[in-house]
Amino acid sequence: TPLLQAKTLTKHFPLGGGAVVRAVDGVDFAVMKGETLGVVGESGCGKSTTARVVMQLIPQDKGEMLFDGEIVGGKDLTLKEYRRQAQMVFQDSYASLNPRLTIEDSIAFGPTVHGVSKANAILKARDLLQRVGLDPARFAARYPHELSGGQRQRVNIARALALGPRLVILDEAVSALDKSVEAQVLNLLADLREEFGLTYIFISHDLNVVRFISDRVMVMYLGEVVEIGAVEELYNDPRHPYTKALLSAMPSMDPDNRTMEAPLTGDPPNPINPPEGCRFHPRCPHAQTICSKAKPALVVTASEDGTRRAACHMEIPGSGHSRAPSLEVA
Ligand code: SF4
Ligand code: MG
Repeated sequence: TPLLQAKTLTKHFPLGGGAVVRAVDGVDFAVMKGETLGVVGESGCGKSTTARVVMQLIPQDKGEMLFDGEIVGGKDLTLKEYRRQAQMVFQDSYASLNPRLTIEDSIAFGPTVHGVSKANAILKARDLLQRVGLDPARFAARYPHELSGGQRQRVNIARALALGPRLVILDEAVSALDKSVEAQVLNLLADLREEFGLTYIFISHDLNVVRFISDRVMVMYLGEVVEIGAVEELYNDPRHPYTKALLSAMPSMDPDNRTMEAPLTGDPPNPINPPEGCRFHPRCPHAQTICSKAKPALVVTASEDGTRRAACHMEIPGSGHSRAPSLEVA
């Protein structure tokens, strides 16, 4: 069952002079209880804006979200309650920490705002420090600048967990860490997900990291979902040309397993007034006449459980095969 359902979420930023940044443009997806949904795509594809709308840090222009079946911001689930149940960890480990507060005060701050006594909030903070692998006796009274980046990110994770959330959004949360520290924090995140019954949305530009931690993956391009599905199915048999190109560029892909797709060329995605039809068409080696005219629907493609979808005119729905490139689509 879904914990979060996003329905036609849309967020545009008008720039004046008629230009509009279509950062998130009618995005539909669900995150199942207890899973990790990875989100990938080049920068400018709308991953972070999607995260900020899901967190309700910025309001959507259109669309709605259901959290455990209730409308976010509706009468049964106020924004205040939703914001307790959904928490976020950012790339910049300094971003959420007040430099003037000790680590334990930073972690305890949220619960005290929500009515927990200071003494209980501090007890909770120390317990969480232990759980994220930082000895409270050594770390509770320190300040953010006295910690390494990896330690600070553990504090941010503890801080995100202090309100007892069910959904945690990790936006490039390990991207600034050294590779060895990154692996430790990824393992910690996996353990905490089990221990606390969490659901994650894990945003990263690093396809290897996303493969390691995710159950399903959503690929975004210029504010739209172009492919979504179970992680190994998607990595082993990408259906959308954009996914194929992204994966071809992955350094550690086994060369025998690489989809022999040309790496990405052409201009990087620019969400200001994106192209008509399929937004990927100016860069797509398979583009046909129809691709610049009609927007492809996100249709079910081959998958074991029917949840795999791709948005490409050349995909034959349900078959796991593409149309012959020479055939024009009706
Ligand atoms: Fe390429 Fe056309 Fe498919 Fe878009 S719809 S990915 S342009 S083949
Ligand atoms: Mg980003």
